[in-house]
Amino acid sequence: MTKAIALMSGGLDSGLAAKMILDQGIELVGVKFTSPFCNCDQQGRCFAREAASQLGIRLMVVPKGEEYLDVVRHPKHGYGSGLNPCIDCRVFMLRKSWVIAEQAGAQFIVTGEVLGQRPMSQHRHALGTIEREAGLDGLILRPLSARHLPPTRAELDGLVDRDALLAFQGRSRRPQLALAREVGLDVFACPAGGCLLTDRAFAARLRDAFERMETLTWRDVAKLKVGRHFRFGESRIVVGRNEAENRILAATAGRADIRFEVPDCGSPLTLLTGPATGDAIRTAAALTARFSDCPDPLVAVRCSSDGEEQTVEVRPLNPNTIERLRVSAEQAKKGPK
Ligand code: SF4
Repeated sequence: MTKAIALMSGGLDSGLAAKMILDQGIELVGVKFTSPFCNCDQQGRCFAREAASQLGIRLMVVPKGEEYLDVVRHPKHGYGSGLNPCIDCRVFMLRKSWVIAEQAGAQFIVTGEVLGQRPMSQHRHALGTIEREAGLDGLILRPLSARHLPPTRAELDGLVDRDALLAFQGRSRRPQLALAREVGLDVFACPAGGCLLTDRAFAARLRDAFERMETLTWRDVAKLKVGRHFRFGESRIVVGRNEAENRILAATAGRADIRFEVPDCGSPLTLLTGPATGDAIRTAAALTARFSDCPDPLVAVRCSSDGEEQTVEVRPLNPNTIERLRVSAEQAKKGPK
């Protein structure tokens, strides 16, 4: 029996592409890649899992692993609007998918890519580059745009009926929505916001971390996802925005981090990472005071580290200085060094 691997993001296009191939009587195994950059599980739902279940196929959830951080740090083909290395990312996922395909005895890979839908990774040249660099010439079938693209091996070998494939093209999603209604596919995630790397505010934080840390772990990435981020010389200051973020910061704090809080009033938890100079400590304390509920002009801020505790009296930091220190989205334009 003909068998294929279907990349499932949980979005509309990958679900439709899988459905079209299933309808040709081909056995499919769905593969969904995850990483801490992945925001695609909206409202606590895993749409890829739900779509796979609606289609009646098995879904393998595959973590990208920390090696993916190298792809993000040094992409051969550069970035999109944030720090999203889409071409390199697709190559990375497809290479891994082919290993799975070989183990599963699958003959080709199905993706939901639509020609011209995404400016970076879905124009004709990029699709060819991705296929070539993944070492998968002719082995990637894109059912939604197949008739705009050269026939794949599966079509040439008669495993797939090319005439039953589509010729979608461009950014409009109307044809896909109409097709979804026609085939009864109604489980898919909203297209926006699936990948944190496209978020320019997050990209700025990640770029800042790349510049200062030779190696990064998923734990470091988790820290970048919460709080307001500031840079003071070589020190990083992160201020929690609410109780949930305070809890996450407390859980991810390293032994060398200094914690700041204003006791006995609504207060963020602030972490200072890096050189704990006197100025860095006073700045972190002044930021904590600014974002606390304490109305006093002079605020007593408790700082603690590794069992030691002291109190620093500071004035809340003024808004201009806050903006100057903030790790801003503008930095994401440049890409990491
Ligand atoms: S948007 Fe994110 S997950 Fe999607 S291809 Fe680009 S980098 Fe990869």
